[in-house]
Amino acid sequence: MGYILTQKRIAILGAGPSGLAQLRAFEAAELAGVKNMPEIVCYEKQNDIGGMWNYTWRTGLDKNGEPVHGSMYRYLWSNGPKECLEFADYSFDEHFDRSIPSYPPREVLKDYIMGRIDKRAIFKYIRFQSPARWITYDDNRQKFTVTVMNHKSDEQETEEFDYVIVATGHFSTPNMPYFEGLEQFPGRVLHAHDFRDALEFKDAELLLIGGSYSAEDIGTQCYKYGAKSVTISYRSTALGFDWPEGIEERPLLTRLEGNIAHFIDGTTKKFDAIIMCTGYLFHFPFLPDELRLQTHNCLYPDNLYKGIFFQSNPKLIYLGMQDQYFTFNMFDAQAWYARDVILNKIHIPDAAQRLQDIQDWLARQEALETADESIDFQAQYVRDLIDATDYPDFPIEKQAELFKAWLRDKEEGIMEFRNKSYRSTITGTMASSLPKPWLDIKDDSLEGFMALKFLAPKE
Ligand SMILES: Cc1cc2nc3c(=O)[nH]c(=O)nc-3n(C[C@H](O)[C@H](O)[C@H](O)COP(=O)(O)OP(=O)(O)OC[C@H]3O[C@@H](n4cnc5c(N)ncnc54)[C@H](O)[C@@H]3O)c2cc1C
Repeated sequence: MGYILTQKRIAILGAGPSGLAQLRAFEAAELAGVKNMPEIVCYEKQNDIGGMWNYTWRTGLDKNGEPVHGSMYRYLWSNGPKECLEFADYSFDEHFDRSIPSYPPREVLKDYIMGRIDKRAIFKYIRFQSPARWITYDDNRQKFTVTVMNHKSDEQETEEFDYVIVATGHFSTPNMPYFEGLEQFPGRVLHAHDFRDALEFKDAELLLIGGSYSAEDIGTQCYKYGAKSVTISYRSTALGFDWPEGIEERPLLTRLEGNIAHFIDGTTKKFDAIIMCTGYLFHFPFLPDELRLQTHNCLYPDNLYKGIFFQSNPKLIYLGMQDQYFTFNMFDAQAWYARDVILNKIHIPDAAQRLQDIQDWLARQEALETADESIDFQAQYVRDLIDATDYPDFPIEKQAELFKAWLRDKEEGIMEFRNKSYRSTITGTMASSLPKPWLDIKDDSLEGFMALKFLAPKE
């Protein structure tokens, strides 16, 4: 009697950059001639690929009544140099055929990210408008049961899988604090997740709560598009940049009285609107407790071996759950590693060894003191993954140095850092420069940006 080789079945949840990295990883293996490829189904809540980069004007619920995934806003420009997220196998030169500046706007970056996707090859795996609803695991049969809501057919679908890959992102569910008096505040109160168009706050006195990227970026953007004043209220540490007139930082908001905000240092100020830049919750409403990753935003979430495999059930794989300096190339590194484990090319050690490895990384994370050290930590993590697979090697450490230079540039000029140019670590091409300062360029469309007369790179 011969053996019946059953094909492994894999569910990928989410077709954002992480889910797409996983699809490309398998596609690359197939192209390389790997036999007995698993059967893959990718369930995506939205009606297109791209995840967070799939900009939507919607807030609240989408057309199917599902929570809107997108947190990106209209005039978002890359928050780090593009040279730090350049793919090893698809350079900016290849995509744009000319040197472009280091900080492109959202649409331009999306064009690049999506440019290497062979839609015909990828789309066949994806079931759009199909959010995961509930997942269980049967220990005896070693199978996951995945139930999704297919909004196209208006029916729930249930299928069995050997592996589930969670790539649903973690910048979508607002962490929304409460402050006394909010219910009487006469203006708009929203979370950064629902912020779309800075022009809404033209001429407004704006209060931003939070001391991280969102506050910094939404604050500078609202200033750029004509807010009368921007006040950033921080809990523990001020961002500390040399702000232009019109942007200031104050310590913690304690309460509101009508439209007057009271801060912990005893000062007060009147505001027209409040934006909570207070971060996001890891939210997996489709997972039972025993399968659900519980973490806050950090470089090495606990319970994930190699930052990917769920410790108590390594057939449950999480992609992109880290706080992110590195983004797309880190997702690639994770996806290639996960693929090779599924294809039995990489052996996963037993639970005790996995735990030891996790604890080693957690201890190293615990010891991090500076942002530079954090960047190096994430670079070493990506390096660890890359070295184990056939993903094309790329100069991670050089990209880490660019991240550090980016931090310095921000310290030197928070309103000017996007005027700087960097050299590609992949092709050696020097980025061209914006023809005028970022602060003066209001049209952020792909067409508008590419029509700019970039200044020749300074070699
Ligand atoms: C405001 C903002 C600005 C950013 N700017 C930058 C930047 O300049 N540069 C940079 O590199 N990164 C930036 N990022 C980081 C960004 O998160 C990553 O670039 C990237 O989008 C993460 O990819 P992902 O696939 O892990 O998650 P996401 O892009 O969030 O994609 C997750 C996908 O999962 C789907 N999904 C969610 N729930 C379900 C479900 N239940 N069932 C099925 N599908 C589901 C979603 O619809 C989505 O398509 C920014 C993030 C935010 C929020």
